[in-house]
Amino acid sequence: MGNLIFKEKIFVTRPLLPPLKEYQKKLEEIWDNQWLTNYGPLEHEFQTSLKNIFNAKNVELFSNGHTSLDLALKALDLEGEVITTPFTFASTTQAIIENNLKPVFADVDEEYYNINPENIESLITEDTCAIMPVHVFGNPCEVEKIERIAKEHDLKVIYDAAHAFGVKIGKNPIVKYGDMSMLSFHATKVLNTIEGGALIFDDDELSYKLKALKNFGITPDKEEVRFLGKNGKMNEFEAAMGLCNLNNLEHVIHERSLIYNHYLECLEDLEDAGDLKVIRPQRNVEYNYAYFTIKLNGIEERDYLMDKLAEYNVFAKKYFYPPCNEFPAYDFEKNTPIAKDISDSILSLPMYYGLSLEDVGQICEIIKLELKNYE
Ligand SMILES: *Cc1c(COP(=O)(O)O)cnc(C)c1O
Repeated sequence: MGNLIFKEKIFVTRPLLPPLKEYQKKLEEIWDNQWLTNYGPLEHEFQTSLKNIFNAKNVELFSNGHTSLDLALKALDLEGEVITTPFTFASTTQAIIENNLKPVFADVDEEYYNINPENIESLITEDTCAIMPVHVFGNPCEVEKIERIAKEHDLKVIYDAAHAFGVKIGKNPIVKYGDMSMLSFHATKVLNTIEGGALIFDDDELSYKLKALKNFGITPDKEEVRFLGKNGKMNEFEAAMGLCNLNNLEHVIHERSLIYNHYLECLEDLEDAGDLKVIRPQRNVEYNYAYFTIKLNGIEERDYLMDKLAEYNVFAKKYFYPPCNEFPAYDFEKNTPIAKDISDSILSLPMYYGLSLEDVGQICEIIKLELKNYE
């Protein structure tokens, strides 16, 4: 054990920071502009960059991903039930509840942990108004099937694409699917603006409404309060961080792919032996290598391995645990056994730009050793 202990703590993630000089240059622009927030020039520049990258009609920026989701639901004026996944971050469920909507949880698929379209269909009632799926760990949902269901039942689709910056299906950016997609630029995400979020959508009327909603409901042209809004704007320092990180992103995602593939290689034997399961990127998908998660054989083994890794200074994370329909804050039906099983057995391993392949190898050696000890 001794020689496998890391001298310094290895956390599950590390935020992407641009070269300091690049950020300083952008800060000089802020000092020149004397503009800190409220639709500043850097926010505009970041918005334009994203529009070009996604070839999107509309991109609106927000103070964080959660506010983006919340305001997406407000802009769509929804009422009733929203079918969603329990295997996600608290934000997805809470955005629904916050808008006086009822989350209805559909179980997930066993391969990619995304909402299972077949379960969506069986939960549709007269009260269903929308579907809110999540591209878990950046792996695309079955977007074509979801689109067909939504069309057939006249439902809105709002994707939580918080994990999925840079992901494409064929040549299509993933954020182009559904009525709206939300991106999070939180410090832990593949692209960060410190805190931040975005909505990507086609409908121009929604753009008008969202500009108002993130600014206390004040309409951008008449300066009248027409909606119940909130303060949800992105500031110039955040936009500057986004622009700098965007410059380096292609390289960053490439490096992430090397880390991901090294994990796959090092864990192959364990997978073949049935000791754990890993997720391989989908075919025909350009992936962003946002997370590297393994699925173990049940909660006891998972918790054991997580605690053991910590003894070696490796801090893995139970992500997501528990499923959202089991949060003590609410009283939801807990009838999604696959999501529960995944949540009980999953462990996210360290995955970030700058993690060396050597360290990845060492982490895998520890896993091999400790799983053997567990038996
Ligand atoms: C990070 C995250 C969010 C929330 O984004 P913030 O920018 O932190 O508000 C929502 N959903 C999922 C799945 C996330 O991972």
